[in-house]
Amino acid sequence: MLVTEKIKLLNTISEVRENIKEWKAQGLKIGLVPTMGALHAGHASLIKKAAESCDKVVVSVFVNPIQFGPSEDLDKYPRTLDADLKLCEELGASLVFAPTPTEMYGSGVHSNDFFTYVTPPFFMVNKLCGKSRVGHFDGVCTVVLKLMNIVQPDKAFFGQKDIQQKIIISKMVEDLNIPVEIICCPIVREESGLALSSRNKYLSEEGKKNALVLSKILQNVKSCYHKGITDINALKETAFEFLNENHELEYLEFVDKETLEDKKNVDDNTMALIALRVEGVRLIDNCYMN
Ligand code: AMP
Repeated sequence: MLVTEKIKLLNTISEVRENIKEWKAQGLKIGLVPTMGALHAGHASLIKKAAESCDKVVVSVFVNPIQFGPSEDLDKYPRTLDADLKLCEELGASLVFAPTPTEMYGSGVHSNDFFTYVTPPFFMVNKLCGKSRVGHFDGVCTVVLKLMNIVQPDKAFFGQKDIQQKIIISKMVEDLNIPVEIICCPIVREESGLALSSRNKYLSEEGKKNALVLSKILQNVKSCYHKGITDINALKETAFEFLNENHELEYLEFVDKETLEDKKNVDDNTMALIALRVEGVRLIDNCYMN
């Protein structure tokens, strides 16, 4: 445990619960911002938003092992806890919860210490990021529900950057009657248009330039839609013209912005979502079409 005048860094569930209990007794409103750390201005926008509308803000920093597939970047995922703590303090958060995997899952999943998973609806996870990241959203929902049970927030803040995640979590909150309001914050981008991501750290300068293709494709399909093109195949064709040998497209899809259902034709309730790899780094982005 590390405590400064303004912020506490806690590693155990019991310590967090003690603080929550005191705050609840005082009638304070609590905001939760779940993150995997390596915080950047995108995360900062969520923390700021939380501080504006809640008395106490809890930021969780936890690289959640159960949401990573066997061939994914769990071990090399950036970990920058000292800098994260400083940023959280500057932004007015009251507590950073940074548990170890053992604190969250005992001696591991499928050990005697941890068995129960949240399984989100198949029709929401069998597409987009869930298609290549099998089991990812089970891991996300499970950790988010655990964090919500530990922190018991009035509001929890998520980024539009991971819109499939936000929609799946909203469904979990509705289905399981979790007493929390979900707030979705817009995507924060570099001036170039590149959506901020902790994984951008893996890219070279050249890679960052090549990664601009995501936002360029999204801007282009949106402007084509505004010029009257609603046919999805036609919109996809325009996007393919931006791609070259530096890009490995995983998907470009058009879905309902509330339910993630596939669209036959684009309308004002549609979002475009894209995932592609640059230098082997998997990047995602999305935009509303209206
Ligand atoms: P992560 O640490 O990647 O799990 O992200 C934690 C939260 O920050 C998630 O709700 C993300 O959607 C959000 N987030 C990540 N990048 C951005 C961004 N560029 N703009 C807004 N929110 C973001």
